[in-house]
Amino acid sequence: NLAYFNERYVRLDEPVLPVEERGLQFGDGVYEMIRLYRGVPFTLKEHLVRLEQSAQSVMLVLPKTVEEIAAVVLAGIEKTGIGEGTVYIQVTRGTAPRNHLFPEGVPSNLYIIWKEGVPVLEKERTEGVRVFTFPDERWNNCYIKSICLLPNILAKEKARQKGGHEAIFIRDNEVKEGTSTNLFIVKDGVFKTPITDQSILNGITRQKIIQILKGHDIPVLETRLTMEDIEVADEVMITSTTQEVVPVVKVNDWVVGSGKPGAYFLKLMAWFQMEVDLASLG
Ligand code: PLP
Repeated sequence: NLAYFNERYVRLDEPVLPVEERGLQFGDGVYEMIRLYRGVPFTLKEHLVRLEQSAQSVMLVLPKTVEEIAAVVLAGIEKTGIGEGTVYIQVTRGTAPRNHLFPEGVPSNLYIIWKEGVPVLEKERTEGVRVFTFPDERWNNCYIKSICLLPNILAKEKARQKGGHEAIFIRDNEVKEGTSTNLFIVKDGVFKTPITDQSILNGITRQKIIQILKGHDIPVLETRLTMEDIEVADEVMITSTTQEVVPVVKVNDWVVGSGKPGAYFLKLMAWFQMEVDLASLG
């Protein structure tokens, strides 16, 4: 494991952040989480493009070009020799005396964390998981990958306390996404996932999965979904960089389909694995 803060490699437990740091005081920053397979960052370019878009959306200037950030990411992988793991990138609006107004002439802070190991989700994938729905108490710009995640962590914690694996946000009667995952359902052989307006994050995994499904001639519909769609769905699944694809077998008290991970989940998981192998074995 290794970390990096503004041009300097540091230990993960090293106190490097100034107290008056805008990420700490205001949650004034954006981030990305990238998955390493066999030491290769999966969909690195897509993640860095999204980082740049998130930064732009909050008027934050990256301290380096995405190419330079990519080079740092790769150098850290080389340095640590991590095979299976993650790279976390965070950019904040810098270090300055606490003031809501943007500081002038202050460079943004860039920190990166390379971590060995990924969550083991064997049981979750064999048995499926239960999720709970919660009213979406987040802001109106959830398409930005902002580090302000208080509503997300509160909902996920509440779901966990009820024995759930993830919390799914409902807004205006529509099922949106999880606290750190996107949502797909399958109905009569058609995959459906919420449209990407400003109310959800357009997951890189979501985009990859849509591409994979279309490549296998599976119809995918980006549409508005409600709890009624969940209740008639044959399968439900959630997706993210760290969790890949996880089958959902229970939503609140509703048993999805057969109550077991479905055939489409198994197919998709195998196709996703092939995609990863292709990318990481070159
Ligand atoms: N939705 C939210 C709110 C997230 O925070 C995340 C990832 O952390 C996702 C969806 C999944 O995105 P990705 O597939 O890019 O990891």
